[in-house]
Amino acid sequence: MRKKIIIGNWKMYKTNEEAKKFVKLVEKQYKNVPNIIAGIACAPTLLASAKSKAKKLVIAAQNCHFEEEGAFTGETSIPMILDLGVEYVIIGHSERREYFNDTDEVINKKLVALLAHGLTPILCCGESLKTYEKGKTVDFVKEQIVAAFKGISAEEAKRVVIAYEPIWAIGTGKVATPEIAQNVCKEIRNIIKDLYSEEVSNEILIQYGGSVKPENIKDILKQDDIDGALVGGASLEPNSFLKLINL
Ligand code: PGA
Repeated sequence: MRKKIIIGNWKMYKTNEEAKKFVKLVEKQYKNVPNIIAGIACAPTLLASAKSKAKKLVIAAQNCHFEEEGAFTGETSIPMILDLGVEYVIIGHSERREYFNDTDEVINKKLVALLAHGLTPILCCGESLKTYEKGKTVDFVKEQIVAAFKGISAEEAKRVVIAYEPIWAIGTGKVATPEIAQNVCKEIRNIIKDLYSEEVSNEILIQYGGSVKPENIKDILKQDDIDGALVGGASLEPNSFLKLINL
């Protein structure tokens, strides 16, 4: 049976004091049932604080650079992330694709580098409202996935977590119905099967993201091909986050 993975994406929110207080409080009340991975993805400045308080929760970075080091002002390298004991890194979030020019090619380089360093990438994909309305979701997501997995072996592919996040459902309160999310996640599993094998497609974890809240998470996680959630807004407040992870 595949595990469930629920990650809160804090985006550009919180200070160190707030992060420590949040993680400490959540750690106390988190039941940590087997087969559920729960954690927080935070800004680079918060990673050390969050990690220092996290025992049951995992901590994720929200981005990384693909080069080991160099003249890249403002960027965070994978060795810097590893140095903090952080094991997960989100790549290809739609906000990064839209505002920071994270192209499919750049995302592929990040995926290759993360896997080479033994980190777990959370690879985001998802279509705009326009693409969704045209009925081109699967074609679009397929292109993103094929490009991201270029040069990745089957053994490495199994270690990737894919997050399907329709852009039209992010921060809009417009959640994709569990059926829509399930259909696309099933198609993603098929894309992985075509790229690799049935075995890889059965093992890979696929999250849904986009306006997930305590009120809708159970219906979303009930779907056969959805193995977790990537949650923005509803992960910022400890009680709301606890409801998402204490299932
Ligand atoms: P949301 O964000 O839950 O606020 O819609 C999800 C995300 O961007 O990962």
